Amino acid sequence: MPWFKIDDGFHCHPKVFAAGTPAIGLYVRCGSWAAQQATDGVVPKQIARLYGTPRMIKALVDAGLWHQKDHDCESCPELDANSYCIHQYLERNPSRVDVDLARKAKSERQQRWRDNKKKTQITPPEQSEVDGDVDASTRRHGDAAPNPARPVPSPSPPTEEKKASPDGAPDARIGDRPRIPANSRPLVDAIGAAGIRGVGWDLGTTDWFVVEALIKRCGIDALVASAVASAQGARTAPRSARYFLPAWRALPDAPAAGRSPLPAAVGAAPPPPSHNASVIARFRARAQEQTS
Ligand SMILES: [Zn+2]
Repeated sequence: MPWFKIDDGFHCHPKVFAAGTPAIGLYVRCGSWAAQQATDGVVPKQIARLYGTPRMIKALVDAGLWHQKDHDCESCPELDANSYCIHQYLERNPSRVDVDLARKAKSERQQRWRDNKKKTQITPPEQSEVDGDVDASTRRHGDAAPNPARPVPSPSPPTEEKKASPDGAPDARIGDRPRIPANSRPLVDAIGAAGIRGVGWDLGTTDWFVVEALIKRCGIDALVASAVASAQGARTAPRSARYFLPAWRALPDAPAAGRSPLPAAVGAAPPPPSHNASVIARFRARAQEQTS
């Protein structure tokens, strides 16, 4: 669980002034993402667009905090058209190789510790077992995050279970079926239950990351209602879930629990759940009529 480092002169660096505070929000979020995913500072455009606006992205590139394809910075890697990179990421942050080595050393250390415990036949208290899998730095700062259910960052998308997702094979399939990450499974099931048939879910790691972020941001009902609207508007039945992504990205945030949504006049508040439910129910009924 690497960290994305910001030094103590960052707040008043000329490039940071040039980019402006909103764009720096995007810089920090994408930096944290790149550290979690161990991408050596490369940020796919999909992730940049998920977390920021085109204006923020342009501000970062113009300020020289990010690069895009055909940049001329000698300290940063060459890029394809689908990615940005964080200028001098590897001069301040560990590389993917460093991160992998540190993880391997840590897991070996933990294994030795467990083996020793077994040898001495002392059953460790449950808490110790849990702590053994959590980095000390997280515990030290744990109080800062009030949500006890926050996921422990891993190099693969948050839901990818380690057993099902060996490093280096994030797009692995089971037989000829695409592998669907656990946290995205309820959405896939709900779309099937809504009567949208024949959609392929053969998404890449980045797409799955986007889908999961969208589930958290908009809620499953809003995504299913949007997919239903997309499917109804399509000339032929969508064959891939990628078809739904542009409309999903344009959805507003779901209102936080316990807070009433903004009045419609203030911003584009998401439709109330009952609206989504009726849209989905109508589509499902029609799909059943067609198949029966
Ligand atoms: Zn650079």
